[in-house]
Amino acid sequence: MPEMTATDPPQLPKHKLKYKKQFQRACNEPNEKGKLCGGHLKRWFYLADVLEQACGDVRQAFGDQMEIYRCEHCKTLYLPGPEEPRGRNVAGVGSQSIFGLTLTAKPGEEKEKT
Ligand SMILES: [Zn+2]
Repeated sequence: MPEMTATDPPQLPKHKLKYKKQFQRACNEPNEKGKLCGGHLKRWFYLADVLEQACGDVRQAFGDQMEIYRCEHCKTLYLPGPEEPRGRNVAGVGSQSIFGLTLTAKPGEEKEKT
């Protein structure tokens, strides 16, 4: 279902940039055969990328701290979409139960009598 709600972000000369949909983990960039690329989107630490250090345009455009993902296949860069919840683990809801595991010591157990 190719719905194009988000427009593509401004492009950099050496990088193709797209917005990542919420929870999107696979590249949906069409390849030359007209199929979806399907490559894995991985967090891309461009400050640590040797090639990018030489190029530097991503850093120039977004600063040091931008959250960017890159398709491991076609190297398309993905920016978090506007609707992406910030600062939350993308793993999703449902594993936050430290609930009811705290055992309280029973009160009134001291036997100080002799
Ligand atoms: Zn791709």
